[in-house]
Amino acid sequence: MTKLSELGPPLIGTRQALVKHEAQHLYDCPTCGQTVDRRDLRQVIWHELPGHERLEIDS
Ligand SMILES: [Zn+2]
Repeated sequence: MTKLSELGPPLIGTRQALVKHEAQHLYDCPTCGQTVDRRDLRQVIWHELPGHERLEIDS
């Protein structure tokens, strides 16, 4: 399993809209079912890769 830290330092995106609830930063990946934090572009990009596995969140 690939570790999140192996993808490099956090890549923080710019805010596009204000969110009212913390949960709005999260979505479930349709490929692997893992919850993804939109604020970390490493996670977003990983979960766009075809055939990817779940990430081990270690940082
Ligand atoms: Zn995924």
